[in-house]
Amino acid sequence: MCGIVGYQGKNSVVPILLDGLKALEYRGYDSAGIAILTNNKTTIIKEVGKVINLEKKIAKGIEAQTGIAHTRWATHGKVCNENAHPHHQGLITLVHNGIIENYIELKNELLKKNYVFNGQTDSEVLCAYIDMLYKQNNDMLKTISLMQKEVKGSYALLILNEKEPDKIYATRYNSPLIVSHTVDGTYFASDVPAIIKYTKKYYLLDNNDIAIAHNNIDFYNKDLTKINKIEQIFDKTVEATQKGKYKHFMLKEINEEPKVINDLLNYYVKDNKFNENMPNFKRYNKIFIIGCGSAYYTGEIAKNIFEKYVDIPVYCYLASEYRYQKNFYDKNTLAIFISQSGETADTLEALRKTKEDKIDTLAIVNGYASSIAREADKVLYLKAGVEVAVATTKAFVAQICLLNFIAIKMAGKEELLKYFLDLDKQIKKLLELDYKTLAKHFYKSCSAFFIGRGIDYGLCEEGSLKLKEISYINAQAFPAGELKHGTISLIEKNTPVVVITSNSELKYKTISNAKEVKARGAYLLNITNAKEADKFYDDIIEVPHIHEIVDPILMVVPLQMLAYHVALLKKYDIDKPRNLAKSVTVE
Ligand code: GLU
Repeated sequence: MCGIVGYQGKNSVVPILLDGLKALEYRGYDSAGIAILTNNKTTIIKEVGKVINLEKKIAKGIEAQTGIAHTRWATHGKVCNENAHPHHQGLITLVHNGIIENYIELKNELLKKNYVFNGQTDSEVLCAYIDMLYKQNNDMLKTISLMQKEVKGSYALLILNEKEPDKIYATRYNSPLIVSHTVDGTYFASDVPAIIKYTKKYYLLDNNDIAIAHNNIDFYNKDLTKINKIEQIFDKTVEATQKGKYKHFMLKEINEEPKVINDLLNYYVKDNKFNENMPNFKRYNKIFIIGCGSAYYTGEIAKNIFEKYVDIPVYCYLASEYRYQKNFYDKNTLAIFISQSGETADTLEALRKTKEDKIDTLAIVNGYASSIAREADKVLYLKAGVEVAVATTKAFVAQICLLNFIAIKMAGKEELLKYFLDLDKQIKKLLELDYKTLAKHFYKSCSAFFIGRGIDYGLCEEGSLKLKEISYINAQAFPAGELKHGTISLIEKNTPVVVITSNSELKYKTISNAKEVKARGAYLLNITNAKEADKFYDDIIEVPHIHEIVDPILMVVPLQMLAYHVALLKKYDIDKPRNLAKSVTVE
């Protein structure tokens, strides 16, 4: 969510900042800005909308070696130039990612001290607050440490002080920020793609660490003790962050699903048996699966597999709700946290709650050394490579695959692993089907429904979310039997309804529900792996049936492709849908 870039060094800073912001565009944002230091003077340029608008506003040939930049995803205050970052108050200029929860109290204090605010953001208040603290003690390190103690909420911050030109101060709390120091200078970014062009190594900042770039790099912990940090190496390549031959990252990432499955098999399995990378969770007799959005739905799908094969209860929770409810656990409960980025704020907070409760925790994440990966007792990586499109696809597939691996391991049924071996070929075949024609039945409609039972309902939830996210159609998922208890009143002539029927006994029940909506004029698209498809549907996508342990992975592919093609027909910004951010680092 939002992006931060900073540079201090030998080279011209503006192109580095703009390149970095463009590489972070996928995270979702509504305005952008930069601040550069020239001759002890801070120049701030910001603009609503895309980074390209900002670029047009920056005078050619502007020279500086120190600067910070930001793409904003508004949380406090409307989208306008005044609220865009960087913010400037007194001597201080900053960019901020996150939310300052006690900003109203801080603002009231600052108003009494005659600070004047140009916009409504919490970030501008934080900027003034840092200025006030600095003016009281004339020491930036002390100032940042005091700020950390007083401020509630989350932040990744890059700070400039006019009195200390050619320096960037950085700190974070529950929002991502990485640092890289090279012979050319020091780079800061919220994520790897922003700086991968310039460097292969980076440092992770722990909560409340402080970094100072000043032709060198120094790190301090929250007690202001100087610390050494171990350099990490990017596990990504420049190509991995580019679209290549594909029109959109989303399409590229769906096409990478066969490779993602094979990479997971290579990492966790050898000769049809799990290798040492797959721990055994056999001693647990109750599982919580906690996530948000698609990650939550992978839990709902995997729940069916765990309960059937491992024969233990699985409870799925939305991370944003988990913290605030009474949870029933014991020492044999395992809490699994699912997050693509590993930085999802709601999931991270739920993880902290389970740790307080002394529940054993396992993270399933894609983001290497991300906050969730670092804080959980154990971590299993999705190995899916960089996912750039806001709407998740390949990470979703990897999450189901890995959850099912865990279920197989716990059930002691490694013989089921053979069913994963052919998945790559089957997915490739599914990618070749004609989704464009089917998408025509959806793209003019303002609503759509997805119905299915059992494991198919989990797939319905993901299918409808994909459609909502990128095509802005009001798509709703329903357990098929539930529609007639109210929502069927919304079915009109040609309302598109996707009916998912896996090869199970439940299929017959779902078919009856599909007939009920057909009788009311709906357009029916059946996605099925049942042997004999029923003829009453308007259209059918036939998916191969391998085994129920892998079938959901195949069934989700047409749902992703359908959403993609509907959004394509609607000419929407598929990789960067409105109002959304890739990694949701605010609660
Ligand atoms: N809360 C800040 C704002 O609304 C920062 C949002 C962000 O992370 O982009 O400006």
